[in-house]
Amino acid sequence: MVKKTIAIDGPAGAGKSTVARLVAKRLGYLYIDTGAMYRALTLLVMNQSIPVTNEEEITALAKKSDIKLINNNGRVFVYCNGINVTEKIRQPEVSHYVSQVASIPGVRKRLVELQRAMTGSGRVVMDGRDIATTVLPHADCKFFLTASVAERARRRYRELIEKGFKITEEEIEADIRHRDVMDSQRKVSPLVCAPDAIVIDSTNLTVTEVVDTIIGYCERMR
Ligand code: C5P
Repeated sequence: MVKKTIAIDGPAGAGKSTVARLVAKRLGYLYIDTGAMYRALTLLVMNQSIPVTNEEEITALAKKSDIKLINNNGRVFVYCNGINVTEKIRQPEVSHYVSQVASIPGVRKRLVELQRAMTGSGRVVMDGRDIATTVLPHADCKFFLTASVAERARRRYRELIEKGFKITEEEIEADIRHRDVMDSQRKVSPLVCAPDAIVIDSTNLTVTEVVDTIIGYCERMR
């Protein structure tokens, strides 16, 4: 296995994080969850009561914020200015505002810099919306993971209910549709499938099947 960088993009709830984490674990690679970084900044914006429309202030905040992902025993912990925000960034309020914060050009510039710095000498699996197109355009293997909106909403619903959040599947589906539109229509680095990415529709696949498919492609690709 000589592939050093694996990019996995796709819409909200397609299972990217679960799959990317398992692919990284099987290969002994570092997993970088870029969505968690946009979520961490959004939480900070909310905690400081900055209106999500205030691009200037949010960009300044992004520049001075220390957002880190720490891998420990196969789990990823998210730290923002030294505080563990791993659980808090998953709350529905953060999901609701994150796409707006992520559409700010200055925010993307700063977080892309941090993401590239984290890749070091390679051996990484990175997931997000713009990895194959912007963050790592020369990634060795590129995947675009998708699934039907209904299935994505079902998966997110199960995940959030298990974590104790009170929310309905309809609310989650509405949020996913809203983020799909925001993420794919923004001006800077929109969510698109890179021309050289392999598309995997996970609607009717198990997590293990998706992981095996990705690793299989990585082994075969030259
Ligand atoms: O992956 P996750 O659903 O946690 O991402 C949360 C949000 O962060 C996305 O809806 C998107 O607005 C933003 N994001 C992004 N670019 C990335 C990763 C996430 O714009 N590379």
